[in-house]
Amino acid sequence: MPELGTKVDLPVMPPPTDTCTGKALSVRALRKTYAGVTAVDEVSMEIAGGEFVTFLGSSGSGKTTTLMMIAGFCDPDSGSIVVGGRDVTRLAPQKRGLGFVFQQYLLFPHMTVWENVAFPLQLRGASKAEQRRRVGETLEMAGLSALARRRPRELSGGQQQRVALCRALVYRPPVILMDEPLGALDKKLRDQLQTEIKRIQQELGLTVIYVTHDQEEALVLSDRIAVMRDGRIDQFDTPQELFERPRTPFVADFLGAANFLPGRLEEQTAERTLVRLDTGGLLTARPQAVADGARVRAAVQPGRLVLCPPDDGFCTGTVETVTYVGTLVRVTVRPVSGADTEVVRLELPAGRAPALGERVGLAADPANVSVFPDVVPDPEHGG
Ligand code: ADP
Ligand code: MG
Repeated sequence: MPELGTKVDLPVMPPPTDTCTGKALSVRALRKTYAGVTAVDEVSMEIAGGEFVTFLGSSGSGKTTTLMMIAGFCDPDSGSIVVGGRDVTRLAPQKRGLGFVFQQYLLFPHMTVWENVAFPLQLRGASKAEQRRRVGETLEMAGLSALARRRPRELSGGQQQRVALCRALVYRPPVILMDEPLGALDKKLRDQLQTEIKRIQQELGLTVIYVTHDQEEALVLSDRIAVMRDGRIDQFDTPQELFERPRTPFVADFLGAANFLPGRLEEQTAERTLVRLDTGGLLTARPQAVADGARVRAAVQPGRLVLCPPDDGFCTGTVETVTYVGTLVRVTVRPVSGADTEVVRLELPAGRAPALGERVGLAADPANVSVFPDVVPDPEHGG
């Protein structure tokens, strides 16, 4: 395999943006139903030039359908798509000037790597000299120069996907759409290509819309993530915001694997929200608007909990399991009070592991505690 990470100077074109709004792409109230089933429901978003945006959601949440409508391979029932200030909703895919990379590499099997990458330039009538220059630069950037004469079947999956990426990049489209492009690759290769994609995106200032169901992949790559559920965007925010201020229990669970601690709202001020947990203790959360006196669930991620002396924290319990995962240790604590309460999950640095059966207190920075009204759990999404 050729050396990765070779850096070359490419003529970087500024990402075309809508001069009125400064947005590379706007999606407005997109909707698509299939035989009465709503696949995409009023999806709206504004994406800035140079942004890396990911649609994250489990299978069937409407990610691909949204991307296909942006690409032009699927007609929306209603809504509009604006690229660089131009309404493209009714334009054919090839007239939208977008680049695509899909999970299946879809390379032309009878063409060499070079010919595959040159193809979009030929379509656009680029001169032979222009083709030579651009294909050469793009292959070099992706570490594929040595493989230029091979055909797709003579390449590994990772190499084929890199060729597909080059083919999308070679004519510098204003926006590149990628649907689970690394889904067919093994973990190590996926990690490597994630780094590659991010490097190329940053180097060229590309605007990317990426689809994945893998939280970690979304977090590594994205400037902003749209968390999708049932054809809708639950929250569209930076990874940090999604972690620290999830707006729905679904986001708290899907991204942070949060503990949900049941209780009742005790007090709300401008500085804090107090929750009386069913286990008896009092938990302080960041200030949030929740209906007074209501049943609530406080969400806190395993990595945001710390141990403290028994009876000093919001909960006291006994250590039930301790599992080492590399430099981390996963710990479960069974609260001593409250008969049928669930265990609380913690993630601690390996050096801080408690002993099995030890009596411990649990504490959390209020900034890391979110409070949600308690609603009847949605059976399909586990709450
Ligand atoms: P994702 O990419 O997030 O897995 P999709 O956008 O592929 O989700 O699908 C969203 C919903 O629309 C699913 O319920 C799926 O079954 C349905 N769907 C997608 N494409 C079609 C189609 N061509 N015909 C009928 N239903 C479809
Ligand atoms: Mg999909």
